[in-house]
Amino acid sequence: MQESWINKVRTPCYVIDEKRLKENLEILKSVKERSGCKILLAQKAYSVFQTYPLIAEYLDGCTASGLYEARLGFEEMAKPFGRENHVFSPAYLDEEFDEIAKICGHISFNNIRQFEKFKDRAKNASCGIRINPEHSTQEHAIYDPCGEYSRLGTTLANFPDLPEGVEGLHFHTLCEQNADALAETMAEVVKKFGKYLGRIRWLNMGGGHHITRPDYDIDLLVETIRFWKNDTYGFEVYLEPGEAIALNAGYLVTTVLDTFTNGMDIAITDASAACHMPDVLEMPYRPNIRGAGAKGEKPFTYRLGGNTCLAGDIIGDYSFDSKLCEGDRLVFEDMAIYSMCKNNTFNGMALPWIYLLKENGGTELVKSFSYEDFKERL
Ligand SMILES: *Cc1c(COP(=O)(O)O)cnc(C)c1O
Repeated sequence: MQESWINKVRTPCYVIDEKRLKENLEILKSVKERSGCKILLAQKAYSVFQTYPLIAEYLDGCTASGLYEARLGFEEMAKPFGRENHVFSPAYLDEEFDEIAKICGHISFNNIRQFEKFKDRAKNASCGIRINPEHSTQEHAIYDPCGEYSRLGTTLANFPDLPEGVEGLHFHTLCEQNADALAETMAEVVKKFGKYLGRIRWLNMGGGHHITRPDYDIDLLVETIRFWKNDTYGFEVYLEPGEAIALNAGYLVTTVLDTFTNGMDIAITDASAACHMPDVLEMPYRPNIRGAGAKGEKPFTYRLGGNTCLAGDIIGDYSFDSKLCEGDRLVFEDMAIYSMCKNNTFNGMALPWIYLLKENGGTELVKSFSYEDFKERL
């Protein structure tokens, strides 16, 4: 049986599931309490600021990749709720830096050169440097900052000494990983940068911790943090997950616009892989559809594709219990992360509206878009 909200929303749309979001936040809060670490929202993955008041009840603040995200974190979380605002950028823009320094309490630099360039203008912030432990623990090259010729973080060879005024170190090397990858990475960080770890006030262990996934080893995460933080060095530890905050806490709802056969059954939807789920093409991965199966698993298999002119705008092959009909609604799972913040209006596609599914089962429209949003970008 379909839940009633699915047919009430206007498609295409994202629906953020408040109950699921809260469940994730409860898990993250328990990690904070057990380990003594602080947890920040990485806005790159999820920046529906309308839910920041809820997130601020559980987490310590936001982190940003540059001025615009930093402003959002400042306006919607740090300022109204007294939370922390952190930023890391591979290189800061001269004309933006003073504003960044005004709204960010923690600024991480990609190398010593960037730190030296801006340190006098960052006097009110706690400054850190991103390190590259050169230890890959995963195979997606596009998400591996430890790969050859990486432009992210400073390797030990380029880190002759901890500059005066640097209070923190930052590393971000994981992607959708479990706590064993962090433990292993931390051992490598200690091996290479251990000589500096006793001299810093904070260590930011980045994102990529898939903490809210059912099989995540929270005990090992807590143990790892406590060991290095409490038993060894005494620094403050930050985690800045993006995915884990809204993992499985949102959907993309779409309507079937047409079906036909060309060697196989095909369905056109009002959601586009290229515009509304770019990671499906970029990562790539196959999102689950509620009630659907893999190709051939159920009696009726369709190739689902978007409503653009891009031949490769294909979401994937899915099977269903019954034939798909024009007007049917499909619910893509786990669409709150790396979706809304990566959307585009290629081919004049509409941006999906954003709804909040409240705990009582009702839906609330958070944001609508129109033709103007397409035109204004050009
Ligand atoms: C992307 C990113 C994050 C968040 O990563 P997730 O995989 O979404 O948890 C955190 N910190 C930095 C520096 C990042 O680039």
